[in-house]
Amino acid sequence: MGRKPFDARGIGAPLLIYCTDFLPTGGVAIFRYAHKPAIPRQYLLSLMLLLVVGEARALDRLAIVGGHVVDVVRGEITRDAVVVVQGDRIVSVESGAQAVLPDDVEILDATGTWLIPGLMNMHVHLGLKLPGKMSAELANETEAELALRMAAYAREILHAGVTTIRSPGNSWPPRAPGHEDLALSKAIAAGQAVGPRIFSAGEALVITGGHGSVAGQTHNDGPWELTRAARREISAGASWVKIMISGGVATEGGSIAEALMTPDEIRAVVDAAHRFGARVAAHSGSPGATRIAVDAGVDSIEHGYFLDRPVLRAMRRNGTWLVPTIVVSQPGTRPFFEKIGSPDWYLERLESVGRQHWEALETAIAEGVNIALGTDQLPSEPNDGTTATAREAQYYVAAGMTPLQALQSATIEPARMLGADAELGSIGPGKYADIVAVAADPTADIKALRDIRLVVKGGHVFRSELD
Ligand SMILES: [Zn+2]
Repeated sequence: MGRKPFDARGIGAPLLIYCTDFLPTGGVAIFRYAHKPAIPRQYLLSLMLLLVVGEARALDRLAIVGGHVVDVVRGEITRDAVVVVQGDRIVSVESGAQAVLPDDVEILDATGTWLIPGLMNMHVHLGLKLPGKMSAELANETEAELALRMAAYAREILHAGVTTIRSPGNSWPPRAPGHEDLALSKAIAAGQAVGPRIFSAGEALVITGGHGSVAGQTHNDGPWELTRAARREISAGASWVKIMISGGVATEGGSIAEALMTPDEIRAVVDAAHRFGARVAAHSGSPGATRIAVDAGVDSIEHGYFLDRPVLRAMRRNGTWLVPTIVVSQPGTRPFFEKIGSPDWYLERLESVGRQHWEALETAIAEGVNIALGTDQLPSEPNDGTTATAREAQYYVAAGMTPLQALQSATIEPARMLGADAELGSIGPGKYADIVAVAADPTADIKALRDIRLVVKGGHVFRSELD
C-alpha cells in the first residue's frame, strides 16, 4: 500500500459535532471513573434511534471498516472488522461478515490496517526545560509563551498517535504557580486546543536540596508542608501527586541511588492524596527509597534506574506500577541530548545509569511487575528513526516482553494504572473512541507502531493517511 503525503488540512477537522465533557484532570474525575458504569448498550441504541428521527445532524456516526481490531484485553484480533462510533464512544466492534452498517454513517475505510487503542504515555512533562542550551534559550520564557509551546507539543503528541498522557509534574524544574498543563487539559476537553487527554500531577513536590530543587525557590519539607502541598495540587485539579524521593539525572549533584525524602514525608503525601482519591507517583532511582515508597502505598515508581530483584518483587506483591522511561538512558537518545546542548555532566550521569537501568527493566519484566509505558521525552520526539513512544515500546520487547505485552503496556496497562480502564485503553463498546491504525500487526512485531495511518480521539479524526 502506497503512503499518502501527510495532509495538514485534515488536522483537527472534527468529523463529529459533539464535544466530549470528558475532563480527566480533576481529582473528582477519579471518582467518576470508579463509579460511572459503561453506557449500557440498549441506552446507546435508543440514543441512536432518537438521533435518526431527530433533526439531521450530519456525520455524528462513524464506521471504521476493514481494519483488523486488536483486542488488547483478550489478546485476540477481529479481522476485517466494523467499528461503529457514536459521538465520542464506540458502539460496537464486529467482524465484517456479521456487521450491519447503520444508515447515515460516515465510513472510513481502514482496509489492510490494524486498529489499536490510542497510545498512552504516562511520563510526559510538557513544560520540560533540560539543562544546557535548551534552558538558556528558554530562560526568559513567560508563562503565556510556555502555555503556547505546550499547546503546540500537545498537538504533535496527538498526531503521533498518543491519545492520553499523564503529566507527572507540569514543568521542570517544578515552579509556582505553574499548572499550565491543567489549563491545557481543560482547553483540550473543551475543544479549544488539540491534544491528548491529560491526567496531571500539577507541579511536582520537591524537598529542599532534593532532585528538582532550585536555589531561592520555596520547597516543601516535613510531613505537614508536604501534606499541604499535596492538597494544594489536588485542589488545583491534579489527579496525581508527584514526589521526588531520590536523586535524579537532571539535577547536578545528589546521588541518584540515595533515598532523600524521609519515610514520614512519603507516608504523609500518600495519606493526603489517597484521602482525596488522588494517586501518587514517585520519582525514584534508588532501591532503598523505592522500598519505602512501596511500603507507604505509592502507586507508581518512575524510572527505577537501580531497582534490584528484592524491591521489584515487593512492587509486584503490592501491585505498584513501574513507569520505566528506559528511552532516556539508552544510547539512541544521545543525538537528542546533543541537539538540545546538554552539558557534559548531564551526559555522563545518563551514561552512568544506562546499563543498570536496562537490567532493572529486564528484571521487572521477568518478575511480572506492572509496567505502564512512559518516556520522559515528549511522546512525539524523534528517536532512533521513530518517536520516543514507539521506541520505548520496542525496548520493552528487547528486554523480554512479547509484542502484545508491549502494546498492552502502551494501552490497557496505563488505563488500569489511571483507574480509567472502563473507558480508555481498549477498543470495545462503551469505550471512548480513541483509535489508531497502524500498517502492520503490532502483536507480531511491535515496530508496527512506527507506521501510524490514522488517529481518532473521542470520535474525531485528527490524522488520516488511509489509502
Ligand atoms: Zn520526569
